[in-house]
Parts: sequence; structure tokens; C-alpha cells
Amino acid sequence: MSWWELAKRHKGKIIAGGAIIGGAVALSMNMNQKRVESPQEESGLQARRHYVFDANQSACDESIRELAPSVFRMIQTRFNVESITRQLQEGNLSTEKKIELWNELKITVMGRLVAVAHALSLLTLTLKAQISILAADIVTITSGATKNNGWWSWAPASMSALVGGKGEMSADEKRRNDTARQVFLRSIEFFTQTGVLELAEVVDDVVKRELQEVRLDEMRDSDEVLALLNSLSAKVAAETGSLSAYVAPIDKDDTSRDSVTLLLRRLILLLDGDQCRETNGRLVQFFLSASTRCPRVRLMPNERRILKYTTYLAACAPEALVYGNCVSQQAESIKQGACGKEFEKLFECVQKQQTRLKRAARILSVYRYNFGVTPPYQVIIDGTYAHAALKEKLNLAEQLPKYLGAPVEIHTTKCCLDELTKLGSPLYGALCVAKAQLVADCPHNPPRGAGDCLSHLARRAKKDKKKKKFIFATQDPTLQDKLRAIGGIPILYIAYKTVLLDPVSEATKTEMETEKGELETIRELKKELLGEEPEKKKRKKKGVNPLSCKKKVMKKSGVKPVEGTKTANGKRRRRKKGGETGGAGGGGGEEKMETMSLLMPSPSAPSAPAPAQMGGLDFLPSVCLSTTLTHTCSALLLIPSHTMVDAPPIVVCGKENGETVIFSTDFNQRFGKSEACTSPITAIAYGRATNQTGSELVTISADGQLTLFKVIEGATLSLQPTFHQLMQANITAAVIADVDRDGLMELIVIMTDRVVRTFQWCTESNRFLPRNKWEVPSHIAGVSIGESATRQYEAWLSQAGSRQYVAIRFSGDHSVTVCDSRMDAATIFMPYRADYVRTFGSLVTGIVVHVNQKERRLRMIGGDIIGLGTVRLPSKVVVITVDVNGLCLVYAYNERNIKKMDIDPLMRMTVLKDTFHMALIGTPAAIYVTVATTRGRLANYSIPMDTIDHRFSRFNT
Ligand SMILES: [Zn+2]
Repeated sequence: MSWWELAKRHKGKIIAGGAIIGGAVALSMNMNQKRVESPQEESGLQARRHYVFDANQSACDESIRELAPSVFRMIQTRFNVESITRQLQEGNLSTEKKIELWNELKITVMGRLVAVAHALSLLTLTLKAQISILAADIVTITSGATKNNGWWSWAPASMSALVGGKGEMSADEKRRNDTARQVFLRSIEFFTQTGVLELAEVVDDVVKRELQEVRLDEMRDSDEVLALLNSLSAKVAAETGSLSAYVAPIDKDDTSRDSVTLLLRRLILLLDGDQCRETNGRLVQFFLSASTRCPRVRLMPNERRILKYTTYLAACAPEALVYGNCVSQQAESIKQGACGKEFEKLFECVQKQQTRLKRAARILSVYRYNFGVTPPYQVIIDGTYAHAALKEKLNLAEQLPKYLGAPVEIHTTKCCLDELTKLGSPLYGALCVAKAQLVADCPHNPPRGAGDCLSHLARRAKKDKKKKKFIFATQDPTLQDKLRAIGGIPILYIAYKTVLLDPVSEATKTEMETEKGELETIRELKKELLGEEPEKKKRKKKGVNPLSCKKKVMKKSGVKPVEGTKTANGKRRRRKKGGETGGAGGGGGEEKMETMSLLMPSPSAPSAPAPAQMGGLDFLPSVCLSTTLTHTCSALLLIPSHTMVDAPPIVVCGKENGETVIFSTDFNQRFGKSEACTSPITAIAYGRATNQTGSELVTISADGQLTLFKVIEGATLSLQPTFHQLMQANITAAVIADVDRDGLMELIVIMTDRVVRTFQWCTESNRFLPRNKWEVPSHIAGVSIGESATRQYEAWLSQAGSRQYVAIRFSGDHSVTVCDSRMDAATIFMPYRADYVRTFGSLVTGIVVHVNQKERRLRMIGGDIIGLGTVRLPSKVVVITVDVNGLCLVYAYNERNIKKMDIDPLMRMTVLKDTFHMALIGTPAAIYVTVATTRGRLANYSIPMDTIDHRFSRFNT
């Protein structure tokens, strides 16, 4: 087993273990302590104490779940195993360097394991210790009083959500709460920011020293590894000194007696006590043995799954407590298989949770996708539901967001409240629960029965698309039936002591069918109104290249195609060569690299003097790749190379025959290719598609086969397929971006049938799931995606043959706006901060950037634009256009110049004629432009960033 695998396999277990074991061990420890202290307390108080500790147990595990990932990530960064493995994979290393890296790797892997174990157990202990101090306080404070849960408010969201009490506090209690909050925050902040790193330093020192002579590659037995880890850990424990130093550093000479310091002292006393040190030792040991021996190591291969997993765990507190108690009893001599029965029970519970939450996500996605029910979810509860929640002791504010997997706002109506009030004392508790919620508007005066009221709201939401989409929570079977019959209404109920979503009803399913029918009708209507677009029909004919039948003569636009003797020579030679290779290639030849000089475009010839305002525009880019493909390119993308800083990019080209090929552009002439799909590759995207740390390549073929690839750069380039999924056919473009700003990437696809969809990687189901869908009135001629002036993330779709464009807002209300423009029909519209822009085989005669409701043109864009791209730099946005004659223009703008005027080109150069695809990328050193022609030629050009900066500042002073 490699060390890297070891680390990767066990990180999940370590965190999950932290939540269970830590919770149980420390809790039982503290409870025993309390009992010994006051054996003769009255039974009521004891019951109350049990309740408080019980409540704390679950809240505390939640906090550990919240804080553990950030602590884990800090250690991950501090002990950067990934960067070393990356270096090792890169090849071209001398033997000495390799040995050095392997040594570094062994220290880093072991250091990470030991540090994680220590940090997480210390975090657990700290939280438990604080909780026990505060909980003991509550019991003391409230032993006489009837109720007070005010102190919850200082805790992290998860803790205060537990009670959700809005009870009034006296001034004295408030002050106490504030003090407690300060202590809590101060120490946890200190630990997560400074303490962890100090702890990591100690670990690093110890591991470096101890492992100097140890040859890890000879150690294959997990027992040996565990023994080594334990001995390292014991040394770390000996050198860490007092635990409190990492959590609550306090000046020993500080004798102040303010309440904050006093509370801190209590915390320190507890942490540095023998019991805590011993518990810490056991915890660390458990983590380490779990990391080498646990039979279920493959449960959590990545971090996101761990987070999910800890959520499931949090719902299995009773089982965790049983397992934890068992483990804590045997902690000193824990062996493989110990507490196996308890573990099975816990594991079963966790699996049940997982199934339950997956089912919820599946049902919700139906409503989200088809009926616009989006987070934050608006749940509306009636009296029956409030009553059931109370009976089953379910805290709705805590349970619903967990179950629905998103923030939730809980409402009721005044009709429901009225009904509960009328029913009187048997339902007094339910009334209290309902009263704690928001009151949704309903028009009933005088109030109606709750069933009538809610079904009215459901029908109203159905008719008026603008009304809030509620999820209805009720135990009333009559109302449930009514809601099911309406269709498109999600229903929540309580059964088996838990909240559940009703399966998608028959009416809802029928509804989904008709919904599609309606879209069809709208499409027909729009076709009638806007007329058939001839271009669309033409594009349907497969194999016909619109460019070959629409070769336009350059307009007298001030920019002339550059012709000169040199160019003519170059072109003749190029064509001849291209023709030959192309012919051979048809028979299945390999891609060949060609001498660079052949493709050198020539600068403007003196015989064709440029107009005065275009003077000094010409630029000669360097060519860093030129080749002829065996089959025509059908999708093109440039992706960053990681071989070195500022490395030239990698060209990714999807071809008509379904292959994807990649080329290096660093003169090493490396290339690689994938297995062929059954139909042409039509879309390529690159990014963190599955939200893992590394970027992945996504290709989609015309018949909807999506493939994920890892791009491996070594002595050769290769594409390693990692995943397949069948998507919709006719996808013409794909982009990976976090468009709704939820921290997770979306895959946005544009389809030929005027539809834009977003997908998101779902870790549980291990595939891309649909998120949203928009349909636009007519054929999409071009698309740009980026930030609007208000920093909204939007897609702008230019509509072929009309002066309209459609703006889709990805976040917030997901609205679609159809806008009119004064520009002519073949215009592409872009938001000011465009991250992505391209055309779809349509010839464009205008490009317009939107800035504060103003439309700014890019001037003199040349002939018919076929290729278009942007690079967003920190200080400006660069737009590059290519027309059918190979004239390539570079524009740049920033907030200052675009507010003043339309934008003139910065430079002009010549690239391959008959370009059909174009891609751009920016590195700190240069902007790279790759073009692919209708004849299968491919070339990559670079423009130094210096030149762009220099010209930009010259033009704009
Ligand atoms: Zn009402």
C-alpha cells in the first residue's frame, strides 16, 4: 500500500470517528464526573440535567461536524501530500531528486495522519469541555427557574437551532451569555487559526526527527504502521505540553478576575486535568488505529462525501452513543472487530439516513426542475403537522433543512392558528409550535378551516406562477389527497418518528407531461410570430458547411485582407501541403506536426497601406503549433498546462469522427487522443466538473455521450477517461462555472433546440443531475456568459435573425428577459465581464458590450466574424475576433475606456483562412489563440501580454 493511498483512504474515517467517539467518550466522562459531585440531588433536577446533556451531545456533534473540515483542510495544506505526488508524477526528475521527494512524502503523509488525529481530538475535547462547563452552569442557574435556554444563542448556528427558543432573558442572563460567547469564540477561533498550526509544527518536528532513519517503503504490514504511528503520537503528546496552550492561551501572571478570564481558567483547568489528557490520548489512539485497521475504509473516498457522511451520523446519535461507550470502555486495548455489533447497528442507521436523504433529493429535484420549487424552501405547516412534530419531539427548524438539504423558511397561516386556538387546550402545544413560525398571507376573512385555507393557497400558487411555491406539511389525509390531486405540490408528513416527503403523485406526473406540451405550443406560436429562420433550416442539413457556400468578399470597412508576395507564397505552399495531408488523412493517417515556419502569417504588406486610424495595428504573432487533423475539428478548447509556471497551454480538439485529441504547444510535439465516440464531439469544457480539487475535461458528443477525462501530462500527453453519462443529444456548447454561486460547479449546456440547461454533479448518485432549464424564442446565434454590471451571473443569448437577445439570470429568480436592441440582427451581445463568449457557426457582423445599460460596439470588426473569444484579465477584458478570411483583431477594454466610447482594435493579425472554430486562453505571459479550419487545419498563435499591455496603455492615454 502506498503512503499516499493510506492517507487518502483514511481521512474520512478520521473525521467521522471524531464526531462519534469524541462525543461519546467525553460526554460519558463529564456526566460521571457530575454525578459523583452531587449524588444527593433531587430527581427532577437530575432529569433536567440529563436533558441538557442529551441536547448538548447532539448540538456538540453538529459543531464538530461544522468545524472539523476547516481544521482538516488547514492540516491538509500544512502537510501538502498532493504537491509532492504531483512533482513525483511529472517525470524528468533526477534520481537524487526522486529520493528526496520520497523522503519528504513519507514525512508529510505520517505528519498529516498524526496531526489530524491530534487536532481533531483536541477540537472535540475543547468543545465538550466548554459544553460541560456551560451546561453545568445552566443546570445551576435554572435549577429553580422554569425555563431558560437563552445561552444557546452564543453557540454556532447548529447549536442555537437545536432549541430555537426565543425566550426572554434578564439583563443578568444576557451578560452571562455574552461572556460565554466571548470565551467560546475566543478559544475556538484561536484553535482553528493558530493552535492547529502550532500543533502541526510540533508534529512536523517530531516526525522529521523520528522518521529520519526509518525506511517506510519496506513496511507493508498495517500493524507495523500502526505501531509506528502510535510511537510518533506518544512523542507528540509528550512534546505538546499542556493542551490548553493550543486552545486558550492565557498569561500565567494575569490575575485579572473578570468573568471572561474566570471562565477561561475553568476551561484550562478542565483541559489540563488528568482526565482530559487521558481521554485525548485514547482518542488519538483510536483515530490512528481506525486509520490503519478500519474494515470500512472505502466508504468515504472524498471530502464532500465525508461531510455528507457526518450529517447522516448526526442523525444517529443514540447508536453513536452506544458504539462510543463500547469503544471508550475498551479504548486502551481496542482491537480490530471490537464493538463490531455496535458498529453494525450504527452503520445500518447511517445507511438508512443515506437512503432517506437520497430519496428526498430525488423527489425534490422533480419539483425543483418542473415546478420551480427552489431553495430556500418555503414550508407551510398546519396544526396536525405541528402536533405530530411535538409528539415525536422533532425540532422542525433543525430537521427540515437537514432533510431537504437546503435552508428552509417555515410558515403557517392565520387560519391554521385560528383553528388551533379554537381547539383549545389539547392542542396548546401545537399552537405554541405553530406560533413560532412565520405567518404566510392568505385572503381569508373570516378565517376558514386549515384544510380549505392550505388547499386554496396551493391552487393559487398553481395558477399564478409568481406566487411563492410552498411545500405543504400536513398529517391531514383529506388535505393530502386534495394536494396530490392538484399536482406539482410537494407534501411533507411525519411517520416513523421522522419527517418524510410524499412520493410524486400521479397528477404531478401527468402535469409534467402537459407542461412539456405547453412548451411545444409556445414554440409553435413563436415560430408563427417570428417566422421561420432560413438559417436554422440550412444548419439542419448535415455536412454542409455554411462557410463554403457563403464566402463573402470583404466589405470596404477600413480593414483590408492583407495580401503580399510573401503571404501569397506562404499560402500556396500551405494549401498544397494541407491538401496532400488532408487527402492522406482521409484514409486514416496520423496527425502530423509540421514545420512552424510554413504557417507564419505575414505582416501587412506595403502595397496595401492601412488607413490612418489603423496605423501601427499590425502584429506578427508567433506560431506554436500547426498541424493537419485526420478529421475535421468539431469543437475546440485551450486548457492550461501544469508542467511549469507560465507553460503554454494544451489544445483540445474534438473531431467529427468522435475522437478527442490533445496537443502540447511547447514545441515538444506531444499529443494524445481518446477512444472515438460514435458521433462528432460537439462540446468541450474544462473545470472542476465534479467539484474535486483537480480540473477535469468534459467532452460531449452530438448524440449526447458525456465523458470525463483526466489530462495527464508527462513525457507524453494522455487522456484518461474517468466517467461516462448519456445526456441529451444536440448539445453544442458546454461551460463549467459556479453560476448560482453556491460554491459548487454547474455544467451549463447550450443546445441546438434553443434550450439552455444546467447540471450539477451529485456525489451520492455519482452522476450529473439536471438543475434548471430555459428555453428561448429563436435559434441561438451566439452566447456569452459572465457578470452583469450588478455582479449577477448571467448568460446572454443572441437570437439569430432578430434584434432581440435573451438574458438568463442563473442565480436568484432564474428569470429570463427578452431584450430589444437597436443593433442589427447578426449581433452578439456580451455583459461587461464576460468569461465566455462564442458564436454557433453563425456569421456575426456586430459585437456589443453592455455597460450600465449602454451598448458599446467593438468597431471595425472586419468581415463576417466566425470566431470570438474573451480573456478576463485583472485590469481589463480582452476580446479577440476572427473573420472568415483569417483576419484576427484584438480588442481590450476596461471600465474607464468603455464608459467613454466604442472600442477600437488594439492589433490586427492574420491567421488561417476558412477558420470555423476558435479558442482563447490567457496565461500571465501571453494570450494564446487557436483556430481550426473547415479543411482540418489547426494552428495556435501566441500574443505576448507585454505587447497587449503596452498597446492598451498607448491607445488609452
Ligand atoms: Zn387562510
